[in-house]
Amino acid sequence: MDFRYVLFDLDGTLLPMNKQTFLKGYLEAVASRVAAHIPPREFIGHLLAATRAMIENTDPALTNREVFNREFFPRSGLIESAAGPVFERFYREDFPALAVLTRPTPTARHVLNTARKYGAQLVIATNPVFPEIAIRERLRWAGVAGVPFRLVTTYEIMHFCKPNPLYYEEIAACLNTVPENCLMVGNDVEEDMVAGEVGMATYLVEDHLIRRGLYPCRPDYRGRLQDLVAFFEGL
Ligand SMILES: [Mg+2]
Repeated sequence: MDFRYVLFDLDGTLLPMNKQTFLKGYLEAVASRVAAHIPPREFIGHLLAATRAMIENTDPALTNREVFNREFFPRSGLIESAAGPVFERFYREDFPALAVLTRPTPTARHVLNTARKYGAQLVIATNPVFPEIAIRERLRWAGVAGVPFRLVTTYEIMHFCKPNPLYYEEIAACLNTVPENCLMVGNDVEEDMVAGEVGMATYLVEDHLIRRGLYPCRPDYRGRLQDLVAFFEGL
């Protein structure tokens, strides 16, 4: 194994799903949880705007969570200390039901265990626009919650989002390594394969390929999720 670290995207990579279907279900569920405090359409508008602010943020002094809160609470008029517990209840009580919008496969765990067997340390490099509680829940859905990960990128700890190449540089820094020791595995040509720009090797998972045509598609490797088993065995 040439790579000391293998980074995996979650949605559409380890956890098969249609991103649009999932996003729609998520927005409806969270909007209905807070409907007593703010009209759903208005809430969704503020949520998407604050998410955009996170994705566009370039200030390395602010965590994604801080960027989100600075944008979301003044816009929406909601009070952080009052809304925080409502969101927590949403993630604890409602979010788990969204598992039905995904199509977990045992292949995910098999791929991770094969990478570990050949000496790689594992990272969950999911776009850090969600709190840790939501990412841990999706790892459970994917059947990989018990796998030891060296790092899981959440909005509490990261300062950049995909497709900013600085997101991948920050991961390498967290691992105390250089990007050249990392392989990024993902299904999104723009968000995941941009890791190549900082020197990481890239593997495009084509099962649920997302391609907007904004970025030249030049992954180092490509194939289906299940092909990764033979790929790791052959490295
Ligand atoms: Mg993805």
